[in-house]
Parts: sequence; structure tokens; C-alpha cells
Amino acid sequence: MEPLVVGHLFPDYLNIYADRGNIAVLSRRARWRGYQLEVRALGASAEIRPGEHDLFYVGGGQDREQALIAPELAALGPSLRQAFDAGAAFLAVCGGYQLLGGYYRDRNGVELPGIGLLPLHTLAGSRRMIGDVLLECELEPGSKQTLAGFENHAGRTILDTGAKPLGRVVAGFGNDGESGYEGCCLGRAIGTYLHGPLLPRNPWLADWLLEQAIAHRTGDLPVFEPLPDELEKQAHAVSARRAESRGGRF
Ligand code: GLN
Repeated sequence: MEPLVVGHLFPDYLNIYADRGNIAVLSRRARWRGYQLEVRALGASAEIRPGEHDLFYVGGGQDREQALIAPELAALGPSLRQAFDAGAAFLAVCGGYQLLGGYYRDRNGVELPGIGLLPLHTLAGSRRMIGDVLLECELEPGSKQTLAGFENHAGRTILDTGAKPLGRVVAGFGNDGESGYEGCCLGRAIGTYLHGPLLPRNPWLADWLLEQAIAHRTGDLPVFEPLPDELEKQAHAVSARRAESRGGRF
């Protein structure tokens, strides 16, 4: 089978807190199942041909880096939304998550345009929300999983009415420190504040994203055999315990 193609959006700008590690995990877990992953960096005025990319990834960034690239990312919005409509998967972390929504109003009150894919917007507050996070998720009906990670954001993300959060906050701040929810999911797109990086300590989500990418490529949703994820489970447990030791939401 031809390689799975990942479009990595603005990797030189949105790449804080080791978010690149997510690409490494996707590549390795794909290879362990016999798939090759080809990662293509996408920057300003990138050409995004219909059907070319099976998964798009965008990491986190400080307000400064977000301001530098937001107009150029927004200019790619129509082709990214077209790719989403055609079944491509997305993973967006923190700053990248914010810019997949309608807009991010930063701490200076400057409104950065998003690509309008996820039903949300974000407003920066004065107090940063920092610490370990634990979520309860039900990405697929009846399949409850936990996600553990680390958050560091000023943004308060407000989901549109009816939008589906990624998970319920067991410990940590989440989208806005008040709603009790974190992230957003829409079809094959996932947005979240969880750094860490996210995927090494949450292998089930890495596999879910790879399955969606393969379904986009082949038209069929594979069912992966489980991998011996002992180390990953230990990393998850350590991260979850750290979050729970915060004593609830915050
Ligand atoms: N600059 C954004 C905020 O502070 C996103 C930060 C990040 O990507 N960690 O909310």
C-alpha cells in the first residue's frame, strides 16, 4: 500500500512542549502495523491537493508564533476544510487547536483568524492554566478511555452550542477552567490542550488517528491488533496520578 501522508502544519512555528513527539509515535505505530508514514511540512501558501493528505497535524505555540502564522494558516482554511469534508483526519494541539476554531483573541486583544473547522473560539485570560490533566473520553460510543497530559495555556476555549468535547475533566483546567470539559472532536478531527507530548502516553488515541487516516486512504476502517504497550501504560499511569494528585479540577 502507498504510504499514509501526514500534512504537518507550520512545524517550525507551532512546535512547543515536544509536540513533535506525536509525529514520531504515529510513524512508529504505523510501521509496527506494516504501514509507512510520509510526513510533509505545510507552510505559507502550501498547495493542499484534494485527497493528498490522510491526516493533518498542528502543534502548540506561544501567542507570538501564532500571530506570525495565523493569517497564512487561515488562508489554507478552505482547502483544509475541503480535506476534512473528504474524510481526512486532524490532530490539533493547544495553539494549533485554537487556530482550528473561528478565532483566538490573544492577551493583547488581537483577534487571530482561525480556519473555522472546529465549532469554537478562544479568548486569552490573564491567568495561565498550567498543570497535569486527566480526562474521561468516549470517542466511540460505549468505549470509555482516559487521556493524560499536560496543559499550559492562557486561552479559554468556548465550544459552540452542541459541539462535542473530547473529554470530561477528571483533574486539571480543561478548555476554560469552568465548563468541566476539554478539547473538541468533530468527525475525524481532534483538538486538545494536552501536551506531553500527548500520544506516547495515550497510545489508544494514536491508533484511533491512524485507523481514521487508513480509512481515508483505503475506504475501509481497519481494526488494529493491540500492541504490547507496557511502557506507554506506565507513562499514562504516572501522568494520570500526577493529575489526580492536584486534587480535582484545580
Ligand atoms: N498561546 C496560546 C495560549 O497561551 C497557546 C499556548 C500553547 O500552545 N501551549 O493559550
